[in-house]
Amino acid sequence: MGATSVASADGPRDGLEGDATGRGQILLVDDEHSIARAYARTLGAAGFTVETAHDGASAAAATRARKFDVIVSDITMPGMNGLELLRLVREHDLDVPFVLMTGGPAIDSAVRAMEYGALRYLIKPVAPAELEEVVTRAVRLHQMARIKREALEIYRLEGKALGDRAGLEARFAHAMETLWIAYQPIVSWSRRSTFAYEALVRNEEATLRSPPDLFEAAERLGRLQELGRTVRDRVARTLDEQPTSELIFVNLHAMELADDSLIAPDAPLSRHARRVVLEVTERAPLEQIRDVTARVAQLRALGYRIAVDDLGAGYAGLTSFAHLEPEVVKVDMSLIRGIDLSPMKQKLLGSIVGLCRDLGIEIIAEGIETEAERDALVKVGGDLCQGYLFARPDRPWAVTNFGS
Ligand code: C2E
Ligand code: MG
Ligand code: MG
Repeated sequence: MGATSVASADGPRDGLEGDATGRGQILLVDDEHSIARAYARTLGAAGFTVETAHDGASAAAATRARKFDVIVSDITMPGMNGLELLRLVREHDLDVPFVLMTGGPAIDSAVRAMEYGALRYLIKPVAPAELEEVVTRAVRLHQMARIKREALEIYRLEGKALGDRAGLEARFAHAMETLWIAYQPIVSWSRRSTFAYEALVRNEEATLRSPPDLFEAAERLGRLQELGRTVRDRVARTLDEQPTSELIFVNLHAMELADDSLIAPDAPLSRHARRVVLEVTERAPLEQIRDVTARVAQLRALGYRIAVDDLGAGYAGLTSFAHLEPEVVKVDMSLIRGIDLSPMKQKLLGSIVGLCRDLGIEIIAEGIETEAERDALVKVGGDLCQGYLFARPDRPWAVTNFGS
């Protein structure tokens, strides 16, 4: 059973041995002790440090305890075989090269070895020179993979920290210069009419096109409130210049709730407050914002209504309901996608619709892409929808396609 031992050029020894000058750490797994000893001696003589194991379970334990450069394992072993060992190792180490050996080659085990990402499949008896060559190449591959991963990690950390700050500032400035607001209709299906539009920020900086990327950049540069203010001012200007009778939904980043210019009565958007619904995403940790309840009350006093965005996206649960007491709830598209095929999603949405009706809250389903999704929403009692099926976000004021 299970004992592991270490071999060097002198043959197997108990306990672990340092590898300061060695060519790599090898785990050799074979239930036949004499074969394990012979291969360990070959690799030890070639300068590798070898740990041997005689069954899959103790080999798996060894791979969890320390890192190896290569694992060489027999396939046919009592208990856990070599393929099962490979699959188990891959759960926590995607890189370590795995060499499988077998005395009874079979197409299906060779195929499975490749499927699980084995590097080589050797037929026993393996000649010492071949074993040494395969293991040498595998060690080099592993070292290259490690260097590449470390380089990537350094690059990622530097990009996140200061290395890239000047570049990020320039890209963010370009995004702000080219910033514009798209509007996507929110429709009442029963009335075949446009109920409202959601304002969605857009810009022409290729690396910051998606709004979450743009907001992340603003956060890193400490310019979140400036970005939020710019969006709100642009929406206000559009409402001044191109009036519309529909409601306008405007997204708020959680940090904007802490910005005094949001609650200033003379702010450009405040003049349109009675027509504006502010969306607060359920993804934001509202508890971190000081006086959130008082600030929301001030917004209401100005005439704004509040929507909880992305309900069901799996973040704050229903706590945002208590903080915000919203007039509107927007159900996240992850709950809508494929709802026509999922009785579970239909049940969930049905209960949300019922709960909102009891509380006097309007409910909007986001991300409706197909007629089947729209019909499933209507079947559980919903009516207000938003999604590519009706219109994509566009310059004001896009015409809604009600189709059939
Ligand atoms: P959100 O507020 O939930 O907005 C809905 C997102 O879904 C928008 O993505 C919209 O373009 C997209 N969408 C609409 N219908 C469909 C559909 O049928 N299928 C699919 N796959 N997607 C659909 P967008 O514009 O990329 O915005 C992503 C998120 O970024 C928004 O999610 C919102 O949280 C945030 N965001 C966008 N604009 C602003 C803004 O001006 N201010 C703030 N604070 N956040 C914004
Ligand atoms: Mg939204
Ligand atoms: Mg949403």
